[in-house]
Amino acid sequence: MTGAVASPSALSAAARRLREALGAERVDERAVTREAYVRDLSALGHLGWRAGPGAGPPLPDMVVSPKDVAGVQAVVRIAHELRIPLIPYGAGSGVCGGTFAVRGGITLDLKGLDRILEVDETSLLVRCEAGVNGQLFEDALARRGLTCGHFPSSITCSTVGGWVAARGAGQLSTRYGKVEDMVAGLEVVLPDGTLVRTPVVPRSAAGPDWNLVFTGSEGVLGVIVAATLRVFRAPTLRLFRSWELPTLGEALDLVRVSLQRGARPAAVRLYDPLDTLLVAKSGDAKPLPAAPDAGAPTGEAIAPWWPLSRTTPARLAATLRAALPEVDVKGLAERAILSHPQLVNRLTGTIPGVGCLLILTFEGEPELAEAEARFVDRLARERKAVDRGPGPAETWWRNKIAVSFKQSGVYEAGAFVDTMEVATRWDKLDALHTAVRKALSLHALVMAHFSHAYPDGCSIYFTFAAPAGPDAQARHRAAWRDALAAVVEQGACVSHHHGIGLLKGEALRASLGPLHDVLARLKAALDPHDIMNPGKLGLS
Ligand SMILES: Cc1cc2nc3c(=O)[nH]c(=O)nc-3n(C[C@H](O)[C@H](O)[C@H](O)COP(=O)(O)OP(=O)(O)OC[C@H]3O[C@@H](n4cnc5c(N)ncnc54)[C@H](O)[C@@H]3O)c2cc1C
Repeated sequence: MTGAVASPSALSAAARRLREALGAERVDERAVTREAYVRDLSALGHLGWRAGPGAGPPLPDMVVSPKDVAGVQAVVRIAHELRIPLIPYGAGSGVCGGTFAVRGGITLDLKGLDRILEVDETSLLVRCEAGVNGQLFEDALARRGLTCGHFPSSITCSTVGGWVAARGAGQLSTRYGKVEDMVAGLEVVLPDGTLVRTPVVPRSAAGPDWNLVFTGSEGVLGVIVAATLRVFRAPTLRLFRSWELPTLGEALDLVRVSLQRGARPAAVRLYDPLDTLLVAKSGDAKPLPAAPDAGAPTGEAIAPWWPLSRTTPARLAATLRAALPEVDVKGLAERAILSHPQLVNRLTGTIPGVGCLLILTFEGEPELAEAEARFVDRLARERKAVDRGPGPAETWWRNKIAVSFKQSGVYEAGAFVDTMEVATRWDKLDALHTAVRKALSLHALVMAHFSHAYPDGCSIYFTFAAPAGPDAQARHRAAWRDALAAVVEQGACVSHHHGIGLLKGEALRASLGPLHDVLARLKAALDPHDIMNPGKLGLS
């Protein structure tokens, strides 16, 4: 692979040809626009940007916004001919630097491809363009009594194409699956501009599964311009359950056995002791005033945008004061808590009487959902789990989007926060949790919850926060380096649903070994000039 470098003459030729092909209004070279597309929603991007000029990712040379597939093909052909890097861009909600223009070039905004093309209510298949906004997609399905079943907390600010490209997971993945389970067909513009369509069939033995080749390819193999997704009948009942168990091991056992014996809760969330403190004792778990969607199972109304009134460090300080009366945390300022992550990590690992909160939701046809909930109720009773009633689960449901958008408050409080989602088999889950927690604890305050559970394993979602002082970028890098090394060492996957982007490329190479060469050869065959999203997935 050669690694495309965009020369000034190639760029100006490209801008001229793109204006001719798409119309001048679809090609934007203004600094303000390029600045708006320079980063995604990753801590990597935020920290680089806050560190000042030159410390963040480079600007793209232009932002191009076609409105249809022919327009995308025109852009790709021009970029291919002139050897200009091309970065597909959905809504920019990625958290791994996947849209960074590491070698400049063209950022290809796909939000203009926003049509739902076909709804097959017999086969429950929906074909839509890649740039459809996630929430608008779900709303359109809800009006027909359907649901996509894919509810990432970024649903309001991500696209269907971005879901597929980054191989995401919604919060109800235990019931509905990850996005790769939903993809029935893809339409992809290859790096030379050719449009290919994968066959839309229920199952197949006709060679490799082409959908899986492009799902998770993060723009390095081509541009996804449309997807056919398997959708579901909207549930008519939703049930909420919460329990507290004394230890993580007992709680994980309850989840594992429930799934392996056939229950399919929609949401599964199990919090470690610190996360339990924050969620359950900080006020978040107190039932909120009824939200419009409480108990409404259609999926039509989604939780409102909640005010970001409390910062995580402030809440952490308040929570620790309330939860640890015997420890003198009173005098510790919020920043001091974050400055001593090892101390707080140690304290919260040994708080007497703090168990682990488990939240489950069930949904579907009433007879089936009720039977599943009854079955898990019985397993929980057998394990002497303390029944916390529907409250904590209902409250999580109402806050399920807002809780992910509190990052700016953390930055305002002088800290940074990031998240890391990994997955492994049940028999290795405990070791993975311990190893990653230990690695992150050296650099940051760490908490974790377990979600996205399956009969054969589960993902762990770590949240870590540390002061955003002058060494923030170095500390952030060190935390990721050590944590990913622990993940690779444990034989777990380096990302369950956020993808790889720029952030985890090296770890992907390390975890795949010779398989990464297969990916590199596939990339070289399809994209010999390395124009498609260079630098991502550990390539080039
Ligand atoms: C607050 C918050 C909460 C989040 N919660 C979740 C969650 O619950 N579950 C989850 O899975 N993710 C979550 N994410 C991560 C992110 O929203 C997802 O990765 C999402 O799928 C990205 O979609 P996007 O349209 O914004 O893609 P972008 O961020 O624009 O792009 C992501 C990657 O895909 C490539 N790409 C985008 N569109 C295409 C296309 N059409 N063809 C080829 N390549 C393309 C880009 O080049 C980039 O590499 C969260 C992010 C935030 C900020």
